[in-house]
Amino acid sequence: RIAYVNGRYTAHADAAVHIEDRGYQFADGVYEVCEIARGYIVDSTRHLDRLDRSLRELKIASPMARQPLLTVMREVIRRNLVENGLVYLQVTRGVAPRDHAFPADTKPSLVITAKRIDPLGGIKRAESGIKVITVAENRWERVDIKSVGLLPNVLAKQQAKEAGAQEAWFVDPDGTVKEGASTNAWIITKDGVLVTRPADTGILRGVTRTTVLDIIKKHGLSIEERPFTVEEAYDAREAFITSATTLVTPVVTIDDRSIANGHPGSIASSLRQAFFDIAEKIKA
Ligand code: PLP
Repeated sequence: RIAYVNGRYTAHADAAVHIEDRGYQFADGVYEVCEIARGYIVDSTRHLDRLDRSLRELKIASPMARQPLLTVMREVIRRNLVENGLVYLQVTRGVAPRDHAFPADTKPSLVITAKRIDPLGGIKRAESGIKVITVAENRWERVDIKSVGLLPNVLAKQQAKEAGAQEAWFVDPDGTVKEGASTNAWIITKDGVLVTRPADTGILRGVTRTTVLDIIKKHGLSIEERPFTVEEAYDAREAFITSATTLVTPVVTIDDRSIANGHPGSIASSLRQAFFDIAEKIKA
């Protein structure tokens, strides 16, 4: 495998950044993950728009303009022979002697990797549905920024794994579901209304979430962007998660309670089917 690190393509096994990179020392950086499907990069405009926003919010300089960045992404994808998988981008504030305040004139670090993923795994998970646990929200207030500071997410995902589940939903003290450790959370009520939390209420504005909203609007399905409680989720007709890596994946149990009949719901499954056609695709 080949990785791109600060202007060079190097063997993945030897790819490294300096020990005083601020990403390493302070998690002072941001990232993006785009899906690659059937030789296309999916929703790159929205992912790169969000990368720009994350960088602006943290006052990190942009490492590269959009077009050259896409060229490097394509080159990494090509060199790794990825037809299906993902491309990962990480930008940190750069390398500087350790000091919390921003260094003057440091160049941001840019790392891009790409990895092949057999689509069959995701298809199987979507056919069986996944298990979710709920955990108390313990993250900072700026989770709208896609920062590499992911320790609460790491701990939540590990807790899910130890419970035999695949995702953990962060829950606010008021009992409402925020989002998963690496996915957005959705339910469908017994009345057939899709419900997902508004993106400006303490969650990441998922690109997949936005594209699924496009599908919902196009097909005239009923949708409420509002917080929902864990109790509502237990009682839902369907539940599912969205992200660039899981697309739309049905949830069949939450905290060991079966959702509806314990099988993936039909609406979640058809949203998954509709996803590739409606998403923006550019040749990798
Ligand atoms: N929420 C969190 C905390 C995430 O880390 C992610 C993706 O990694 C998402 C939601 C889903 O976002 P996207 O659909 O852009 O992948």
